[in-house]
Amino acid sequence: MRSGSVRRRIILLYTLSVLLLCGATAAFLFIVEDRLIIEEAKENLTALTDSAVGAISFENGRIVTDDHMTWYLEGTYVIICGPDGEVLAGKLPEGFENTPGFEPDQIRKVKNGSSTFYIYDEPLDGAEGNAGWARGIASEDLKEISPMLYTMSRSFIAAIPVLIILALFVGWYTTRRAFAPLGRIVNTAASIHEGADLSQRIGIGSGDSEDEIIRTASVFDRMLERIQRSFIRERQFTNDASHELRTPVAVIMSQSEYALAHPDDPEVTRQALEKIYRQSQKMSTLISRLLFLARADSGRQQIQAEKMDISLCAEESAAMLSEAAEQKRISVSVEAEEGIYINGDETLISQMFTNLISNGIKYGKQGGWVRVRIKSDRIRVTIRIDDNGCGISPEELDRIWERFYRGEGVRSDSAGETDSTALNDDSTGLGLPITKWIVEAHGGSIHVVSRPGEGTCFKISLPAFRE
Ligand code: ADP
Repeated sequence: MRSGSVRRRIILLYTLSVLLLCGATAAFLFIVEDRLIIEEAKENLTALTDSAVGAISFENGRIVTDDHMTWYLEGTYVIICGPDGEVLAGKLPEGFENTPGFEPDQIRKVKNGSSTFYIYDEPLDGAEGNAGWARGIASEDLKEISPMLYTMSRSFIAAIPVLIILALFVGWYTTRRAFAPLGRIVNTAASIHEGADLSQRIGIGSGDSEDEIIRTASVFDRMLERIQRSFIRERQFTNDASHELRTPVAVIMSQSEYALAHPDDPEVTRQALEKIYRQSQKMSTLISRLLFLARADSGRQQIQAEKMDISLCAEESAAMLSEAAEQKRISVSVEAEEGIYINGDETLISQMFTNLISNGIKYGKQGGWVRVRIKSDRIRVTIRIDDNGCGISPEELDRIWERFYRGEGVRSDSAGETDSTALNDDSTGLGLPITKWIVEAHGGSIHVVSRPGEGTCFKISLPAFRE
């Protein structure tokens, strides 16, 4: 729906409401006027005529009126007529011809000329019977009865077109202001769509605003922020992945060329094949880790959780790494109470132990140690993996969970061909992100404490198995 059409509808609705309100008020005024006229007229008519009768006396057959007699009150006139209807005293209202006959004590509505009047007659008793009549005549005209109400109601009716124009203007102005942010949202979305520039923001206020549209814009901005961050992360990930794959491919190509250039030298061929094999292994590890993370990101990494003995799993993982540990004369020990179970995926938990123990060996000193300790309080299982290796500097501590992050010293080792241990060829900077994902996917948490030059301790907490 276009914002223009919504605006038009709101303005229309707004103006219609004002119109309806004005109509209702005008109708109310007319009803009040009508009632007021009848009531006022009746009251004034009888009261004024009564007081006139009381104020009149007869002296020698002639009518004598009191000086203080009221002849006119708010549109009501009193006249004194003789027995034959001739006006003896008082003033007739404009447009009234004294034609109707007399009927005592009855309020009557009479059409007189172009106007309507109410009349009320009372007989005057003289010495010789009927001496004449006192006639009250009330105008039906509001202007006469209540000039203030008349002015008010007529001014209101005259003001209705002005009120409608005002409503239109106020509606147009307020909706223009209210819908302006919506226009900015649309423009920002359109320019992102056209230029694919995710750095654009609407930027018109905070999420705490009372205004729903400003709040929407702020949510939109936050959403853009997230999309941009994940977009950058994804791009970074792709760049890093291709960069990591380029290095072993380059080594494989150069070694192949070198071996082909020396077909008669079996030693050169053997060394080249060895390097090619190591690089292929590295590529294989890298690719399988990349696939793991891609599956994890898309929610396709399955977890086959079942009751498993975590101590046994740790021992098996340590045993698998014994050869690498022996090469560096590092002792790997597992201290665990028997029968500690978790609800976990054995393959993934084994990968978690392998990653952490192999790191302890990789970054351990010659002749050092790696110690795995597992405890349980029946609610949670706590695992500590300590080593007395090179440790991690405080600046690096936060970064080790980032994908492809490798410590300063590690990067140069694995890029070159100097270190020949199988573990260093495994170095991809993806081990810890995968480990973290595994721990969190099992409902656990992982933390690291390290002192450079003294060693590192990874602490994991997992929910214990419950029947
Ligand atoms: P890598 O494949 O490089 O080992 P990881 O994600 O497992 O990748 O580790 C990332 C970085 O964290 C390593 O390059 C290293 O600098 C540091 N690190 C991890 N474990 C340890 C450890 N036990 N001792 C010292 N440094 C470590």
